Parts: sequence; structure tokens; C-alpha cells
Amino acid sequence: MTDPGFDRLRTRGGTTSRAAPLRVDPQGRQSLYSVSGQPPAPGALTISCSSCRERSVVTPRQLVLLALPSLHLPFVRRGHPSWMRCPACDRRTWVKVVLTL
Ligand SMILES: [Zn+2]
Repeated sequence: MTDPGFDRLRTRGGTTSRAAPLRVDPQGRQSLYSVSGQPPAPGALTISCSSCRERSVVTPRQLVLLALPSLHLPFVRRGHPSWMRCPACDRRTWVKVVLTL
């Protein structure tokens, strides 16, 4: 008489407590970390490189050094309008400079 009742309670509790955290956790955290590996500080300059796909955070002084010489064609090159040295792959290539506020 009491056996079937216990069986039902066990299977129910086991499945719900296992399934819930597995679904919610990994996706939420992974998407957070992949978008911003290291969140740049306010006022930081980020260089997105078109050839190595790397994002480098530089100081305004570093940017001036990297941008000598440089070209800026915002109307011709929409994705990466600036031609200058990339600090990640050390090549002169098309990059996008973003100022984080
Ligand atoms: Zn690069």
C-alpha cells in the first residue's frame, strides 16, 4: 500500500532539481563572458582589428603612437574606417577605434 506513493515522490524530486540549474546557468554565463572578455574602463580606447579580429584596449597616448601614420575613411570603409597599426598583430591594417564612455 505505501510503496507506490514513495516511488512517485522520489522520481519527481530527482528530475526537477537536476534539470533546472543545468539549463539556466551555462548559456547565460557563456554569452556574458564571450561578448566582453575584459570590460574596458570608461574613457578607454578599443581598437578592433579587421585582419586578426582582436580587440585591444589602448591608452590615448598609445593610440597616437599607433596612428602615425594613419588614414581615416569613414565613408569608404564602414566597418573598419581607420588604417593604422594594430597592437595585437602589429600590422598596418584597417581597424575600428571605439571610445568607451
Ligand atoms: Zn590585428
